[in-house]
Amino acid sequence: MGVDTKAKTAAKKPAVHPNTWVFFDGDFARYHDVKLGLMTHALHYGTAVFEGIRAYWNQKKGQLYLLAAAAHYDRMHRSANVMRMKLPYSTEELVNFTLELLRRNEFKSDVYVRPLLYTSSEEIGVRLHNLDRNFFIYAVPFGKYVEVEAGIRCMVSSWRRVPDQALPARAKITGSYAQAALAKSEAVEGGFDEAIVMSIDGHVSEGSAENVFMLKDGVFVTPPVTDDILEGVTRQLLMKVIGDELNIEVQERSIDRTELYTCDELLLCGTGAQISPVIEVDRRPVGNGKVGEFTQELQNIYFGAVRGELPKYKDWTIPVY
Ligand code: PMP
Repeated sequence: MGVDTKAKTAAKKPAVHPNTWVFFDGDFARYHDVKLGLMTHALHYGTAVFEGIRAYWNQKKGQLYLLAAAAHYDRMHRSANVMRMKLPYSTEELVNFTLELLRRNEFKSDVYVRPLLYTSSEEIGVRLHNLDRNFFIYAVPFGKYVEVEAGIRCMVSSWRRVPDQALPARAKITGSYAQAALAKSEAVEGGFDEAIVMSIDGHVSEGSAENVFMLKDGVFVTPPVTDDILEGVTRQLLMKVIGDELNIEVQERSIDRTELYTCDELLLCGTGAQISPVIEVDRRPVGNGKVGEFTQELQNIYFGAVRGELPKYKDWTIPVY
């Protein structure tokens, strides 16, 4: 039988230590003790909803800060509702499980936390009703997801964002990340760092896993939640910082493709991506082709806030230890 041994040896080692504690089916367990069946519904049909949460290690304070966890779990409840699923815990319980998980693993580095609510029935048949669900959380040490210092080069993807009429982008459904993967690989294999994806009606929607902000004529603009975006937690945090700290107005309005070529600054933001300055789109420089001044300022504030350095943004984070 044709087992592709080349692909097998090329496979990366898992990023997680097998002894890592995870939260699985209502209890704490070791990563290597958890097994999922081959027929697991979610694996075949994308019937799961998930989140991505970060915790930031502050070496000086010897403290780990969990960022915006309640907002992520609130969104997860909403994503579940779209998929006719129900999270078996309140947001408060989920935040507490996450804190306990981080403590058990004694992380002393930046961490990425991945909760997943998935259809666990082992049976054939595409549907949402009359199926079992299960929930887990794992956490792994995690650095940069995309470049945040030098600025990144983007392409406008030939793939369109999933429309609300077909697969709601505002719900974080695993199945819709096949679309994001198409866009990301097209961009990276084409020599770019990241994709910017348009909505079906031809407006800028978002990156493969990031929301978009552009600075144009002294105003920050970000696509409205009705342009098939994930309603980003980072997007929400930045909207407030831009208003409060930079004293710049934020407009939620649709963005045309060519505005990406003619704006003064552009950035992608998200839990994984953090704040990533975009210095080029479709081989055209953004602004002067360097990291934007206001983007840089936003980054400084954001990285201070997430590491628990800024008392003003204390309510963004929860100290883990
Ligand atoms: N859009 C998509 C498609 C994403 O996957 C993400 C990452 N979760 C974002 C935007 C940014 O959302 P957040 O700031 O909540 O991480």
